[in-house]
Amino acid sequence: MQRILGRYQGNEKGPLVIITAGMHGNEHAGVRALELVFKMLEVEPITNPYFKFQGSVIGLVGNVKAFEQRKRYINKDINRCWNTAHVDYILASPIEKLYDEDLEIRQLLEAIDAEIQSADAKEIFLMDIHTTSADGIFSIASQDKRSIELAKQLPAPVVLGLMDGISGTTLHYFSDHYRNIPCTAMAFEGGFHDDPLSVNRIIAAIISFFRSVGCIQSNDVSTTHDYILRQYSKGLPHAVYVKYKYHVDDNSLWEMLPGFSHFDQVYQGQKLAYYDGIEVYSPLNGYILMPLYQSQGHDGFFVCTLDR
Ligand SMILES: [Zn+2]
Repeated sequence: MQRILGRYQGNEKGPLVIITAGMHGNEHAGVRALELVFKMLEVEPITNPYFKFQGSVIGLVGNVKAFEQRKRYINKDINRCWNTAHVDYILASPIEKLYDEDLEIRQLLEAIDAEIQSADAKEIFLMDIHTTSADGIFSIASQDKRSIELAKQLPAPVVLGLMDGISGTTLHYFSDHYRNIPCTAMAFEGGFHDDPLSVNRIIAAIISFFRSVGCIQSNDVSTTHDYILRQYSKGLPHAVYVKYKYHVDDNSLWEMLPGFSHFDQVYQGQKLAYYDGIEVYSPLNGYILMPLYQSQGHDGFFVCTLDR
């Protein structure tokens, strides 16, 4: 598996768009979607001679080694390792001393830095693609105002405040600036890991993202893409705020009750799971998010509400 899934140079000046997928090695739909997006970009000018693309794109696999082994991670969750102090340590270490997730981060940053140089980037937009062990789509914004604006433009529910309760995600790291270049990041969750339709939804989200950051014009975007996302978000709240997270220490003791999807309504005192045989309840009324149905990971579930 190659780190770089594709690169595309538009015919006009514009931002550098970085799209990462497979930060978790068990999330294959995002990687497939990115491969297809690069194929679409290649043929678009042939079928549509007026197609304009402002800026450039690079598509990257986040955790190549875990992806090859079809594991969420090898040693630790890469999407909890992006705190500045740890990344500084990774950048200062001799590369032969680094392994697994730390080496992945070093190689990712080297690929990004090389792209910034060659594209002579003045502005960066990053979209980090994920899938989950439950059904449903949403985008995630950081605390950065521009990230919230960007996430709200995608026709899918926006989850706010998720970054407050966790640390070391790509959204934390690529917030505000990267290498002194203005940088805005958001994440998109495309649905269940192994649902073939997750690939379609992620393609739709990437195309919508290109439009939001000004790479392509609205009239160059097929309405099918927006339709796919709108259909899938039907009846769901436009935005929710994360109010609670259940932390799972030992994943092997965790048992989520079956059947929960993102945004299912839960009530205070509702039994949601067992931890080490003991019942786990929702502490409040709200919407459940990311119920954990996989054997790696420490976030049992989140509960969100409509109000901040
Ligand atoms: Zn993920």
